[in-house]
Amino acid sequence: MSIRVENISKVYGSQKALNDVSFEIHAGEIVGFLGPNGAGKSTMMKILTCYIPQSSGKASVCGFDVSEQSMEVRKNVGYLPEHNPLYLDMYVKEYLEFIGGLHKINNKRNRVKEMIELTGLQIEQNKKIGALSKGYRQRVGIAQAMIHDPKVLIMDEPTTGLDPNQLEEIRSLIKNIGREKTVMLSTHIMQEVEAVCSKVIIINHGEIVANDQTSKLKHRQEEVQVVQVEFDKEPSRSALKSISGVREAKNTIGNVWLIEGNATADVRKGIFDYAVKSNISILSLQKVESKLEDVFKSLTKKAE
Ligand code: ADP
Repeated sequence: MSIRVENISKVYGSQKALNDVSFEIHAGEIVGFLGPNGAGKSTMMKILTCYIPQSSGKASVCGFDVSEQSMEVRKNVGYLPEHNPLYLDMYVKEYLEFIGGLHKINNKRNRVKEMIELTGLQIEQNKKIGALSKGYRQRVGIAQAMIHDPKVLIMDEPTTGLDPNQLEEIRSLIKNIGREKTVMLSTHIMQEVEAVCSKVIIINHGEIVANDQTSKLKHRQEEVQVVQVEFDKEPSRSALKSISGVREAKNTIGNVWLIEGNATADVRKGIFDYAVKSNISILSLQKVESKLEDVFKSLTKKAE
């Protein structure tokens, strides 16, 4: 087991940031830690990287307890904090050698060279960090997090503030890293999770509200089923809503409607019957592919 969290709570003064959180992350997984702002993502990551202590509960990384074996945990974890605190006046190579020195790694020069190649920093390696774009600074942050060859990499919002090209590059870098390491990354961008993560843990108000494979989460039982229908004339909204299994009916454009039904009921027959009875033709009808974003919204709203 790479990460084990058991009943962790964290209280800041009177504010409860984490409430009885438990989850496990297996070796080799890339896990998306998802939640709205203020949900407790950074707090959890700081506990796992020994930056702050929990108020109660237990957590371990690679079998080492974060409270009692913090030196061992630090050896096994690479951490990219949300506000990646780089020394802007240092040169890329100089900075990475400095970090390598802190970790007391052998053969520092070679390791820095390897990290520069792995993170695609070759053309920028002789610049000062302050002269780099945000995308390249993130690469330096990832290189510093991995310089001591940790088994687990924890990244807090690694792609925030990047332009679409940089985003793509950093995502594929993370995917590559995930081939060899366990990765936990926090984000509030659904596409990121769908593109990169095999598993998702969703946290809301300090509590875990979902923990599943990304593909399974998209098709959760309690999730709504959405059907898009185009009628030839305007239907009655209240009649659509009264069809068995229908939760909501929304007009989008013209006579196109999005009809939400319970996942267990197939509302399509009811829609056909209604149309026939009301002398309305159906020009098209299709199921809308469920998106992780909808699952996220429904889970984080429900808990409010
Ligand atoms: P996220 O990373 O999901 O945005 P955080 O873990 O940063 O969430 O914060 C969780 C909650 O704890 C928030 O309500 C935040 O205001 C509060 N919090 C975080 N750090 C501190 C702190 N040092 N002192 C007091 N409250 C904090």
